[in-house]
Amino acid sequence: GTEAPAARRVLLKLSGEMFGGGQLGLDPDVVSRVAREIGDAVRQGVQVAIVVGGGNFFRGAELSERGMERSRADYMGMLGTVMNALALQDFLEQAGVTTRVQTAITMGQVAESYLPLRAIRHMEKGRVVIFGAGAGMPYFSTDTVSLQRALETRCSEVLMGKNGVDAVYSADPRKDPDAERLEHVTYAEALQKRLAVMDAAAFSLAMDNRMPMQVFGLDTPGNVTRALLGERIGTLVTA
Ligand code: UDP
Repeated sequence: GTEAPAARRVLLKLSGEMFGGGQLGLDPDVVSRVAREIGDAVRQGVQVAIVVGGGNFFRGAELSERGMERSRADYMGMLGTVMNALALQDFLEQAGVTTRVQTAITMGQVAESYLPLRAIRHMEKGRVVIFGAGAGMPYFSTDTVSLQRALETRCSEVLMGKNGVDAVYSADPRKDPDAERLEHVTYAEALQKRLAVMDAAAFSLAMDNRMPMQVFGLDTPGNVTRALLGERIGTLVTA
């Protein structure tokens, strides 16, 4: 018999910077716009998991430089990501999308605990799964968690949404006018040329497991939908 083609399932990383619209706290206009864009893609059949950052509230490394103990500061950072997860959940539901938040730190009144098989079931039913609280472990980043969650919930691709930059460049485009926009780089090239794609732990998970990624810009309206649907709008990073 003929089997239905497997649905496209992707993991989207949204940084804390996006949630705050570049400032401390939450920018509801930006979050609702991105939520509507996610809804447009979900209605076209894409299965979506989302990892949210928390830099719009706290970054553990910054708090520890200012005198806090690193682990406790990192837990504050992780709790910030949960606030972003709830904000995104709210605007997704307003946009008509069914959602579940799963957190790596148990908080039963607020969210489900991270359960990978249940996350997969949610996506198969058309629900967007939002992963909060990072890995639940200090010294990790939400970029690293994005790769881990994508691998464990069997996503075919990680979409790294960025603010202020729309692709990987040969040098920092904000500093170097000769910086070249790259359409496609391999992990080996990125390492060799020291391209700033993501932190080293995230990068090694991606490379070791040959997870394809796309780095793209969140600032242009419509980009989130296009990236989720599989359009190439930023830089592809592959094995
Ligand atoms: N964090 C952590 N473990 C994790 C994920 C995040 O300790 O698994 C903390 C860390 O302090 C980090 C903060 O949460 O600075 C916010 O996450 P991140 O900096 O990755 O957010 P983004 O840069 O994407 O806004």
